[in-house]
Amino acid sequence: MVRNSLENTSTESPDSFDGSEDESYGARLIINMEALVENWQAMRALSAPARCAAVIKADGYGLGANPVSAALYQAGCRDFFVATAREGTEARMQAPDARIFVMNCILPGIEAQCRDADLVPVLASMEHIARWTSLCIANGDHPCALQVDTGMNRLGITLDEALILANDVTRPAGFSPVLVMSHLACGDQPDHPLNGQQLERFQTVAAAFPDVESSLCNSAGIRLGKDYLFDLTRPGISLYGGSTGHGASRSTRPVVTAEARIIDIRQARKGETVSYGAAERLKRDSTIAVCSIGYADGYLRSLSGAGVPMRGVHDSGACGFAKGMRLPVLGCVTMDLTAFDITDLSPGSLVPGDFIELFGRHINIDDVAAAGGTIGYEMLTAMGKRYQRFYVNNMREDMS
Ligand SMILES: *Cc1c(COP(=O)(O)O)cnc(C)c1O
Repeated sequence: MVRNSLENTSTESPDSFDGSEDESYGARLIINMEALVENWQAMRALSAPARCAAVIKADGYGLGANPVSAALYQAGCRDFFVATAREGTEARMQAPDARIFVMNCILPGIEAQCRDADLVPVLASMEHIARWTSLCIANGDHPCALQVDTGMNRLGITLDEALILANDVTRPAGFSPVLVMSHLACGDQPDHPLNGQQLERFQTVAAAFPDVESSLCNSAGIRLGKDYLFDLTRPGISLYGGSTGHGASRSTRPVVTAEARIIDIRQARKGETVSYGAAERLKRDSTIAVCSIGYADGYLRSLSGAGVPMRGVHDSGACGFAKGMRLPVLGCVTMDLTAFDITDLSPGSLVPGDFIELFGRHINIDDVAAAGGTIGYEMLTAMGKRYQRFYVNNMREDMS
């Protein structure tokens, strides 16, 4: 990806989108659907010859599961993964003939809901398999998938259980998986020894189910090498522009730009303090932009400015971005309001009603996440409901 220097920064956000800008919102999300589709195509290319699915759980990582699944379906994606049966039922409306896998449906009764909604349950314990089997014996066959734990100790039957099941000649007709899968614990750390161990265990599983497709990789796993690809990959974060942990060079195109509206601009003198706890004491006379954004919008409290005692995750807090410049957060992020230092901008260059970017086109989401002691995944999924959302195409990024 070409990253232009600050001098070349010329693409401020459009001030309005088709006149649909609604000032009753304090913040907006600009979601670049073209970048989303391009990211999926890039992951599909990296996954070949395996097929490439899309993980759209948690409302499409906060972007909106409906528009995301509709766009990826149109781009040719026919395998989707969701966390809950409820998410699956929604996705079904956007992707009529796709396979929709429900990963977390282990509680009794939910497998029946999956069946009724034409979703594929990912079975994750021997009891779960038994319940599913009796359901299929009573009502007829339906595709299912099988989760095998290979080292994460989250969900899935053990390797031994999988091998016994594979060799069970009495295996009922009601149990006919279309996919065996497992999940990597350390895919984002290429040198971690657990990757190789999980690969080896999963190879054993895949070999024990020779007629069943197999899937091991999330976004990070796809970068670990051809051996890890199997038949189907399951990228999530890389579709949405977040880094998999291999560093920014391995991140895909940014998809989401979050911006907060400036509601007031004020002057404060050197030595005065900003926000709760009086934790940030100004080192110079300052111009402060107060923005309509806070931790209720997923702009985490841990992104608070330098000097706020509870943060302690990073020397300085997060920065916003406007007019070609990074603008540090001043003091505590509060529920609905956050102060940014705009002293270095020429007076009048920002006025109330203008926007400050929180992350996206100019500031990498993973850099912001790191300043708050977290990861892009959490930033995306924490965004909440108070943003006006714009789904656009053809927007260029200009990372600083
Ligand atoms: C969330 C999830 C994925 C996608 O992971 P990313 O790191 O976002 O690519 C894949 N598989 C399973 C089992 C998951 O829970």
